[in-house]
Amino acid sequence: MNARHRLRLSPWLLLSLLLCWSTWAGAVPLDVAQPSEQPLSLTTHAGILEDASRALQLSDVRSAEMAARFRYQESPSTSFALGFTRSAYWFRLDVGNSGDQPLTRLLVVDNPRISLVDAYVPDGQGGYRTWFTGADRPQTGKAYANRNFVFPLHLPAHTQQVVYLRVESSIGLHVPLQLWTADALRSYEREDDMARAGYMGIAIAMLLFNLMLFIALRDRLYLLYVTFVLITASALTIKNGMAPDWTLLGLPLNGNVVYYSAVSLTLSAMLLFMRGMLQTARQLPRVDPGLRALIALYLLSPLIYAFALPQVSRVAIVVNLLTAFVMLGVGLACALKRQRSAYFFLAAFGLLILGGASTSLRAMGLLPTNAFTVDGLQLGSSLEMLLLAFALADRINVMRQEKLQAQARLLQTQEQLVDTLQRSERELEQRVAARTAELQILNSRLETLSLTDALTGIANRRHFDEVLDKEWKRAQRVGEPLALAVLDVDWFKAYNDHYGHPAGDSCLQQIAQTLAATISRSTDMVARYGGEEFVFLAPSTGPDGAHSMAEKLVRAVEALALPHVRSPLGHVSISVGIASMHNDGNSPAQALVQRADAALYRAKAQGRNRVEGG
Ligand code: GH3
Ligand code: MG
Ligand code: MG
Repeated sequence: MNARHRLRLSPWLLLSLLLCWSTWAGAVPLDVAQPSEQPLSLTTHAGILEDASRALQLSDVRSAEMAARFRYQESPSTSFALGFTRSAYWFRLDVGNSGDQPLTRLLVVDNPRISLVDAYVPDGQGGYRTWFTGADRPQTGKAYANRNFVFPLHLPAHTQQVVYLRVESSIGLHVPLQLWTADALRSYEREDDMARAGYMGIAIAMLLFNLMLFIALRDRLYLLYVTFVLITASALTIKNGMAPDWTLLGLPLNGNVVYYSAVSLTLSAMLLFMRGMLQTARQLPRVDPGLRALIALYLLSPLIYAFALPQVSRVAIVVNLLTAFVMLGVGLACALKRQRSAYFFLAAFGLLILGGASTSLRAMGLLPTNAFTVDGLQLGSSLEMLLLAFALADRINVMRQEKLQAQARLLQTQEQLVDTLQRSERELEQRVAARTAELQILNSRLETLSLTDALTGIANRRHFDEVLDKEWKRAQRVGEPLALAVLDVDWFKAYNDHYGHPAGDSCLQQIAQTLAATISRSTDMVARYGGEEFVFLAPSTGPDGAHSMAEKLVRAVEALALPHVRSPLGHVSISVGIASMHNDGNSPAQALVQRADAALYRAKAQGRNRVEGG
């Protein structure tokens, strides 16, 4: 027989029930002696009263008038979702033990982030035992050491009692109110600790590993990752109610201000890491300044939270949500640009969102409660960390490949450079060789020119002097005589006067050719000495040899029979003075010339067209 059946039996009470259905619908004591699932959600068992003034005291809500104002939900859910509200809420739980044994149950508020949680539990002597606790109050005020708010209810056999709970929050308020047996809670706590320890293990491993990578590689991105992991793990620890009490210069800090600040820091760390990983400054130069502004805003937000968290907490949630969309957008934009790291980032971020969403959907009762949904956010966060660490490892691979490619390119460029250099060197060598050959030809041509008489084409005086000098020395060495003849055209001034200068030139040319053609020995030499004078040099030749050679020359010119009307002979002739000497080392070569000259003088004096000397 439960209370509801008893009420139906009485018509009077039935009428009251109809009049005040909503008031009384749930105000039926919950009998903990009856078997029930663990944990038991109390959303249909506890009455709720909004206190917009936040001024009501326990004595106020216990009054009959106020008792009638508690409302009861009819359909079960996982929590009282009250949204962003500045009101305080009172819960009233009528609980009884119809059994014969005293029982202990644990009243659990499964949300460590409610700012103020006050519990009023009957002390068994007609009074109330009170606990003032909540996220914004020190942990020491807790009735039971747990990351959530847990209050023990002692229920002697065959008794009933009314428990009151007052909650108030500076951030969104949802109150999952549950009743647990001590055994069930203990085993849940073990699993819960395991889950959190597992997450911490992953976070610490990733943190240390990437810290080592940073020390080894000095790449700023690893430090950003380490910061991101450190702050994310801290924020989740705070969110889960596991953080110690916070103080600043000895003053206690408001727990939810710290929590919201930690979320801000997490998002700025994530943004910083994303900027580094996706190189947004280069990839999305127009979006990047916005991201930097967002980071600045987040770094500034703790100050805003410190002064006005209740006023801005709703806006903060919206901004955080928008930031998630911004990050998703940036990831997508970079992925569209076929950036390899963007794929990893999107996958990692997607897992985090999936985890966060599963936790939220479970809180809203849309997803079943299991290992994946309870710790979905943690699971998502650890998978995100793992995937991002994998992306960083992949980055090393990519960088190594890029380095190899760059090296190959460098090598190719170097080879091309060497090739080009060698080719131009060869070209230069060829050009130098060609120029040298040209110069040699020019030089030899110049030399020939400098040694040749321009008019007649035979050796000039310079050439003759060189050869004379050489032969004079050789004559001394070999001890043989050297013969020299000076030849002069007879009456040549008259020839010029009569036939003209050009005819004189032509005459000189013919005489030169005749002289050159007449000498037979290769060692003999004929040269133009100047004007209409020629010289003849014959090594190893004595006076006789010289004489006959000179005679031959005189005859050859005579044989030319060039007309010369102003000559007594009627044709062009030459006179020759010869000298043949041994070089005893005492006289210069010029002595030979002087002697030949003297002989020539005699030849002229003795009638011309003849040879004199010896
Ligand atoms: P001789 O029989 O005494 O030698 O009488 P010559 O007229 O030849 O006397 P001389 O040696 O004084 O005259 C030389 C002349 O030769 C003077 C000059 O007009 C002429 N002559 C010298 N060099 C050249 C030349 O390169 N071309 C021409 N056409 N005439 C020259
Ligand atoms: Mg002369
Ligand atoms: Mg002459």
